[in-house]
Amino acid sequence: MGKPTGFKEYPRKKVDWRLPIVRVNDFEEIYTEPTEEHLRKQGARCMDCGVPFCQSATGCPIENLIPEWNDLVYNGRWREALERLHKTNNFPEFTGRVCPAPCEGACVLGITNPPVTIKNIECAIIDRGFQEGWVRPEPPASRSGKSVAIIGSGPAGLAAAAQLNKVGHTVTVYERANRIGGLLTYGIPNMKLDKDVVQRRLDLMAAEGVKFVTNADVGKNVDPKQLMAENHAVLLATGATKPRDLPIPGRPLKGVHFAMEFLTANTSSLLDSHLEDKKYISAKGKRVVVIGGGDTGCDCIGTSMRHGCTKLVNFELLDRPPESRAPNNPWPQWPRIFRSDYGHEEAEAKFGSDPRAFNILSKEFVDDGKGNVAGIRTVRVQWSFENGKMNMSEIPGSEEVIEADLVLLAMGFLGPEHYVSEILGIETDPRSNYKAEHGQFATSVPGVFAAGDCRRGQSLVVWAINEGRGAARAIDIYLRGHSTLPAPGITLGSALSTASV
Ligand SMILES: Cc1cc2nc3c(=O)[nH]c(=O)nc-3n(C[C@H](O)[C@H](O)[C@H](O)COP(=O)(O)OP(=O)(O)OC[C@H]3O[C@@H](n4cnc5c(N)ncnc54)[C@H](O)[C@@H]3O)c2cc1C
Ligand code: SF4
Repeated sequence: MGKPTGFKEYPRKKVDWRLPIVRVNDFEEIYTEPTEEHLRKQGARCMDCGVPFCQSATGCPIENLIPEWNDLVYNGRWREALERLHKTNNFPEFTGRVCPAPCEGACVLGITNPPVTIKNIECAIIDRGFQEGWVRPEPPASRSGKSVAIIGSGPAGLAAAAQLNKVGHTVTVYERANRIGGLLTYGIPNMKLDKDVVQRRLDLMAAEGVKFVTNADVGKNVDPKQLMAENHAVLLATGATKPRDLPIPGRPLKGVHFAMEFLTANTSSLLDSHLEDKKYISAKGKRVVVIGGGDTGCDCIGTSMRHGCTKLVNFELLDRPPESRAPNNPWPQWPRIFRSDYGHEEAEAKFGSDPRAFNILSKEFVDDGKGNVAGIRTVRVQWSFENGKMNMSEIPGSEEVIEADLVLLAMGFLGPEHYVSEILGIETDPRSNYKAEHGQFATSVPGVFAAGDCRRGQSLVVWAINEGRGAARAIDIYLRGHSTLPAPGITLGSALSTASV
């Protein structure tokens, strides 16, 4: 424990984000660089608990050694902190930026005080590691003679690739997009995770021997059976890419889009041409309605703000969450409370009020007479809890039309697409995910494994890393009969795993 009285002396202080009104003018990351003194003080708040809930139970899904690196940062031993961090996490520069931090929700200090700023400290350790040149390619000393094909290059596929490569297997990652990274590249926007940060890790992995093949749409222009024949094992890490639709009258109108159509095209155009090629859906000068909250909804808000939308409303079907934990949501569960993310802050700074409207049900997209969306007919709803389930009812007389020129649907995802699994004859579970047990990760077809959102449903980057690491161990055991790779645990944090995307 760095400083026994640290938690009494220093208040929690998160690393600042850039000012909302300034950062909406660019797609640079929202974060500022913390000072070493700031990080030492925040690390000193850690109580080095006998039972560190941050790293287990409902805390970190990859069991990061949090109290150890808090202590090391307080004592200025950054390189050792980095070594500890890499023991459990292949990509701390991603989680340090985008993770909602279930560890902080479970932090013991959080019972009586604001929790330790664990996520900021994680990010600072890995960023410093790169700045100092401590993060170097570490190719395996020898090769096993076994090869693995990984389909999908999101965090699950990448974590599995890194782990399998480490123990000497020859790994090739196949990705249907023109860039590697899955939602790290084409989902989460630049201001939350700069694509140079993603590329830096991909370059390291390539230098360690992982092979990447882009524009390889397995099941369409690459035969999955051939991948099975040419490799000793195959991992499906194809994500949960089927978006939930809103099939109300007027859905075919121009100007109504899935969130991912909007976000993917924006990042693609940004990376290709700094938005010069105009190959994206622009929100400039438009009244935007984002339907659905979570990270996807927030990223749609942040991106629309940067395009220069003139108005922004974010519909949420559910009640506004409480300001503090409800009695049925005690520590160490993930606190289901009202939070403002970066996009909400930006809309409020520019337009003067929080963009979120709760308890709103969309009934119809309104036509402008020329086939374009002009608004959404809505009604307010209320929720009641009866007979063990939530019931929704419409409030009579609360109907309204909200004007909109651009509507973005961010209502979650319904599992993986099935064109690969059908060719291979993979069984699916009742939620249409690929059927494979956590820990085993083996599908119904011998030699084919599944990990990440395609197996567990839409989730978080940190869970994708958990699954990729676990699948790598399962594959290693399948190939060699034993494994030296660690088995990531199953924490109880699943309440957060699907709620926030
Ligand atoms: C907009 C958005 C924002 C998010 N923000 C956050 C956040 O801030 N924090 C957080 O923790 N989580 C966030 N998430 C969730 C997180 O990104 C996902 O849980 C995570 O990326 C899942 O990883 P994965 O590897 O399983 O799948 P993905 O990242 O979805 O990657 C799957 C990859 O497989 C490829 N693929 C699919 N089929 C084939 C095929 N047949 N052949 C070849 N390639 C194929 C896809 O093109 C894709 O690149 C967000 C999700 C979205 C949509
Ligand atoms: S639970 Fe909080 S205070 Fe306890 S070890 Fe973890 S970070 Fe430190």
